[in-house]
Amino acid sequence: MTGVAILGSTGSIGTTALRVIARHRDRFRVAALTAYGRKDQLAAQAAAFYPTFVSLVGGGHGRDDWADGAASLVEAATRPDVDVVLNGIVGAAGLEATIAALQAGKRVALANKESLVMAGELVLRAAREGGGEIVPVDSEHSAVLQCLGGRPRADLQRIILTASGGPFHTWDAERVHSATVHEALNHPTWKMGRKISVDSATLANKALEVIEAHFLFGLPFERIEAVVHPQSVIHSFVELVDGSVLAQVGFPTMELPILYALTYPARVSDDGAPRFDPIGAGALTFEPVRTEVFPAFALGVQAGRSGGTAPAAFNAANEVAVAAFLQGRMPFGRIAEVIEVVLRRQVVEHAETLAAVMAADRWARELAEEVIRWA
Ligand code: NAD
Ligand code: MG
Repeated sequence: MTGVAILGSTGSIGTTALRVIARHRDRFRVAALTAYGRKDQLAAQAAAFYPTFVSLVGGGHGRDDWADGAASLVEAATRPDVDVVLNGIVGAAGLEATIAALQAGKRVALANKESLVMAGELVLRAAREGGGEIVPVDSEHSAVLQCLGGRPRADLQRIILTASGGPFHTWDAERVHSATVHEALNHPTWKMGRKISVDSATLANKALEVIEAHFLFGLPFERIEAVVHPQSVIHSFVELVDGSVLAQVGFPTMELPILYALTYPARVSDDGAPRFDPIGAGALTFEPVRTEVFPAFALGVQAGRSGGTAPAAFNAANEVAVAAFLQGRMPFGRIAEVIEVVLRRQVVEHAETLAAVMAADRWARELAEEVIRWA
């Protein structure tokens, strides 16, 4: 039996993971569940899966609450009866648990891409030193891992990440600028949490994924590309050194990448996701990313190339800007503007300690809030 901790069990990834595990109870035991708010939903999950550890944070007691929350995530991620930590937390709140789990030698099935973006070097070091391993849950990175099929990294020439393009992929810049919250959350091919849905609409998500791919697969940024593929059927391409290109294909569902991250490198029989049908999939199309309409993409990739604490600042500015947009405090088009000001003003430092990363995160959050108040 593999013991699984599900961090963020009430979210889109968390509930999907529990649905997958419910079909494979002979293999997986839910050892820990954590959530922020939503106590009735968490209680129902606990009653269905009998975990040995449950943590509910977000009771609204300010700073102490946050500290307790972070400590309980680390506890869930490092318990002896946990083999795999599925990190389905959204945003920077997931970082400490990722690092702690890897240091404790666990497998991290990583949906929380923000961990790798903020502190890629630290996360990889934690895995090396603690003997843990990171297996991506993000569908594009799962696709790359599946295409690689255990080949040596030296065989890998180029990664082409696919992007749905989000709900605005055909819209002109002016209309995108004043898009409403409802429009931004109306994703054409994926049903996800609010933050990642907005990230998909700005294409900041694809920049986060380029940085994620850089750390996961060890490729320099010039060998990681993104292409818009509105049908979300091809989950990414891998080019090998001889020019051969492999792709992983299927109707969009997170069940498959979640199951694969739990069983990797093994495959297990599963009938959850609809089987692929090429006729049903219809025509598959590809377009370049319109960077002039979606500037958050280029800003994020540039932060990745700059390295050090730049990706942490990009991530923090984006989180603050997305929250402000969702609260109706500023228009959609200002998300990228806020990120741009923060990155322009940043003095990039080495990201070799958690303290340096957290300082950059805090600095970027404060400046982003200030920039939002200016308008
Ligand atoms: P969500 O908002 O649906 O769920 C987030 C979960 O994290 C919830 O259970 C919530 O209780 C918990 N949480 C939020 N803030 C917390 C905090 N401060 N402390 C502790 N717990 C907290 O988000 P989601 O769509 O499931 O996304 C989760 C992560 O997975 C994100 O990093 C996202 O980018 C990534 N991801 C999601 C999808 C998807 O299909 N939803 C696909 C690929 C990657
Ligand atoms: Mg993705």
